[in-house]
Amino acid sequence: MPYQADSDLREFVQSLPKTETHLHMEGSLPVEMLRRFDPSKLSPPPPFWADDYRYETFYSFMDMYREYSKNVFTSAERYHEATAIILGNCQKQNVRYVETSFHAGILEFIKEDGPTVIRAIMEGAPKGMEVRVFMGISHDAYYGVVKEAIDDCHNWEELTGVDLHGPEDLPVEAWVPETWARTRAAGKFNKAHAGEFMGADFVNRMLDELKITRIEHGVRSVENPAVVDRLVREKITLDVCPISNVKLAVEGIPSMSAHPIRHLYDKGVSVTINSDDPFFFGNTLSEEYYALYQDVKFSKAELVRIARNGFNIALWNGGEKDACQAQLDSIESNLI
Ligand SMILES: [Zn+2]
Repeated sequence: MPYQADSDLREFVQSLPKTETHLHMEGSLPVEMLRRFDPSKLSPPPPFWADDYRYETFYSFMDMYREYSKNVFTSAERYHEATAIILGNCQKQNVRYVETSFHAGILEFIKEDGPTVIRAIMEGAPKGMEVRVFMGISHDAYYGVVKEAIDDCHNWEELTGVDLHGPEDLPVEAWVPETWARTRAAGKFNKAHAGEFMGADFVNRMLDELKITRIEHGVRSVENPAVVDRLVREKITLDVCPISNVKLAVEGIPSMSAHPIRHLYDKGVSVTINSDDPFFFGNTLSEEYYALYQDVKFSKAELVRIARNGFNIALWNGGEKDACQAQLDSIESNLI
């Protein structure tokens, strides 16, 4: 990766208790599992690991995604094994709280039900880490066993909520707001991907139609100051993934230094930073912090505040969370 840090920055980022609230299981495909179950994919190495690699379109990214992950995520047991590696890597970076999602579409292939997959993920998580699991649902996923799962998921105790995935330009059919309303009524916490490949209007629309307070990406909100004002006024948090945005060549983000997270943060929007699909972007969460410091001119104090935003919005109540926030307070006060 391009984001090498000197030892001072490395130690500083490592010292921050962190959250990861935008992480796809399949996009975090562990290399060691690929080596075992589909080794030909590693020789030659995946092209997208090159620093200057840019996906041509979101659809070409989706094709790669399926191609590389299909022979690894074939059972709940594999999710369990993958989770131990993926979240183990997060824990090594001092991540204390994670919200991750699995794709509803896999239920068609693995012949196991959603709660079984969720339990496999929860049980694979390392001790001492708080984990919440979401089901990622694509705009066009309403068919067969996936539809049955979507219709039933408000009953799944293990499920934290649903997250709208996939190409944003596909229609949002009536079942989407219905599903979001039904799961919300059952006490779930829902999210949606928006403002990555569609503009600020789509963010507005998802806030209206899905009644959510969390948007995955949302970076194109900057195109409309009224939408940015709304994010601030309604305390909507954006789970931003800067390296992902650059590698996917999101409109308006030709390079890291042009990333709109600077503007959003300065306007008072609550933002978190996350790694999204680390296998497909060759990134780590720590590198997201290095990128903001080195290329987007965030100070160390601002990095602390971004880390704190993650705990502020965490679906986690407990002494450990307070301890993480207290630790961030103390790191920040030592900077001044
Ligand atoms: Zn995502």
